Amino acid sequence: MIGRGLPNGKEMRLLIAGNWKMNGLSGALDEVRAVVAALKACPASVDVLICPPATLIGPVGAEAGATVAVGGQDCHPKPSGAFTGDIAAEMLRDAGASWTIVGHSERRQYHGETDELVAAKTLAGWRAGLKVIICIGETEAERVAGREEAVVDRQLATSVPDGSTASNMAIAYEPVWAIGTGRTPTNDDIGRMHAHIRAVLVKRFGAAGQAIDILYGGSVNPRNACEILAVKDVGGALVGGASLKAADFLAIIGAAPAA
Ligand code: PEP
Repeated sequence: MIGRGLPNGKEMRLLIAGNWKMNGLSGALDEVRAVVAALKACPASVDVLICPPATLIGPVGAEAGATVAVGGQDCHPKPSGAFTGDIAAEMLRDAGASWTIVGHSERRQYHGETDELVAAKTLAGWRAGLKVIICIGETEAERVAGREEAVVDRQLATSVPDGSTASNMAIAYEPVWAIGTGRTPTNDDIGRMHAHIRAVLVKRFGAAGQAIDILYGGSVNPRNACEILAVKDVGGALVGGASLKAADFLAIIGAAPAA
């Protein structure tokens, strides 16, 4: 993936990932069919991933084939056991997932997930052969208090396991206050934070840290995607609401810098 010579200092193929959250019945497969058909007609210069609810991983995978990767939205640290309602990374893999998201702020907020648990879930994803998107990001109160870098530093130190490389994970920087709100940081603020995250990754992982994708997430839409994806050190996007409609998701995919 290195050396593709993208503009704006980017050397890696971008990743555009859709997080459907708890949205999508079988009728939503029409949106997947539309995305796949458009990408087959006009192949994207980015990697595309859809993370539907677990109930749709198999059906989305059947529609997506090799055109779009499929992922889960969470996993349990253990491979099996008495954990009613949870899903193991091995089950995601068995259903056709090649990725899973962990540490999304909605999991941290509504399910009390700690940095340590997020790291354990990441290791579980790797154990099952999945690539993992590890989500980090500050709340509005933390940003107002000027603590955004300190929060991200703590999350990076404790949620991101040793052994992280571009081949087994990506970071998604998602300021909590930007998720689902229609508000985004300025492009300068995004650039500053991504540069900071890059520096932390390089300090810890050396050359491997240079290659790790750092996605931006939080109210990415067809109108702002082009500018956000052009920011240095933005390696792609994690997209919630705008990934639910094929037209919007395709517009975001099309806004990525060409390889
Ligand atoms: C998300 O849920 O990861 C997300 C970024 O949501 P939205 O794009 O809707 O803000």
